Amino acid sequence: MSYSSVRGRKPMERASKISHANIIASPQVQALIAECSVPRAADTQTVQDQLVTVGLPECMPIRHVVAVDGSFREAVVRQEFPSAAITFFAFGPLIFRLDDLRALDEEPFIAPEDLAKLKKIERFQLAAPTHNISRRGLSLQGSFRLTVHEFLKGHPDGERTLYDTLRWLLFRRWIDAPAKARRLRRCPNAPITGCDYDGLTLRHDSPIHQQCPHCEGPVYLADVLRLHELIDEEQGASRTTSFLMSVLETLALVNVIHTLWEMKPILLREFLFIKDGPLALFGQVADLSDPLRELADFLAAFPDPADQTKRLPLLNIVGLEKSGAFVEHAMHIEKTLDEAMDAALADGPIAGVALPLSNDYIYKYIVPGDPGSTITYGQNTYWGGKIIFKAADRSTYVATVPTRGGHNPAPSLWDYLCVENVFAVLAELRCSMYDNALIPVALANRLVSLSEVPSTRILESFARDTMRR
Ligand SMILES: [Zn+2]
Repeated sequence: MSYSSVRGRKPMERASKISHANIIASPQVQALIAECSVPRAADTQTVQDQLVTVGLPECMPIRHVVAVDGSFREAVVRQEFPSAAITFFAFGPLIFRLDDLRALDEEPFIAPEDLAKLKKIERFQLAAPTHNISRRGLSLQGSFRLTVHEFLKGHPDGERTLYDTLRWLLFRRWIDAPAKARRLRRCPNAPITGCDYDGLTLRHDSPIHQQCPHCEGPVYLADVLRLHELIDEEQGASRTTSFLMSVLETLALVNVIHTLWEMKPILLREFLFIKDGPLALFGQVADLSDPLRELADFLAAFPDPADQTKRLPLLNIVGLEKSGAFVEHAMHIEKTLDEAMDAALADGPIAGVALPLSNDYIYKYIVPGDPGSTITYGQNTYWGGKIIFKAADRSTYVATVPTRGGHNPAPSLWDYLCVENVFAVLAELRCSMYDNALIPVALANRLVSLSEVPSTRILESFARDTMRR
């Protein structure tokens, strides 16, 4: 949420004092421009050389689709200064049967009763204090920590909580690895109690709520996310919101994987997980991508119950991007993809064509960066590899799919997990009424969206009525 235009800086006033002519003539600006470079446009030959044909899958185990998507919105609960705000998060996995989606696809428009037919719509809602609000007399940081803690430990179904899933993920509970531990560099109560204890270690069997042995302040499992470090009592908690949203979306998705794994691992093969946006976590919460990569790699190498010498990959998952540099690049190379498709289709039916994106390609043609750098693109943030896929019906996808063996700076098509099955279902889900959007993601967007004015008004009055003043 854009705060800077309200508090602190005043963009219009600043802009008026610096004219465009002055900027261009400035020697500092000219020196800067002289040292800058932008990624170059990929030439047709380079793209053609790296394109691969994606065949039709031999058998299709996928029967269900789980789409995960979320949104958040800050609601001002007191207008007059000092203003106060709460941020609402809505997110969750939408679970559909592929057969129901196929039936929907044949209808000219989606009516509300059709939505009700869809298998299961599970929504999580969280209201977190983000500006000038105190719960039970706590600081903003303390109020925020308590709210996130209480949210993660509760679950509408009373079953597997998001905390259970966070613990499963952090401590790799799918394997026996009791040595895994997370150490908090600082006591999370330090800003209030001045505590300088640095020996807090969270393990797989640590309680979700314990006491710091030095200051006796609360220590929650969620403190490992270190989101509270971004909160300033005066500036508020706005810097945490996009990170918290991405953690919550990821946990909602892993919660379904976790549940299926505990129920009957082989069932996972019947599900395709679709996440809005890339399979990546950035900034403060980026280190969650390590256990996610390990989880994907573990599920990729599941021993086939029918023949223990064989591996049966269990995870069908894809992250889809709708905007940004990779989407612009996909649009730029569209013609080359079409030509390659025409040539391939002349030889027989295919699912489509794909362009696996290597570190080298990404830094040369898509985002600025050094292809020779020791840290390759996405190494610390992504838990999958990027790939552009164009289906035979000409719909294009910028996708992230986990790669076998963890991060791979130069993946081939076969390194991407279950890629033929995943792409075949994606191609089928495409629905012309949403243009380049997928039905589940479009539905998820519609159901989760808090962006319309009336809903915010309702949320604001709800918050005002329920908040203790
Ligand atoms: Zn302490």
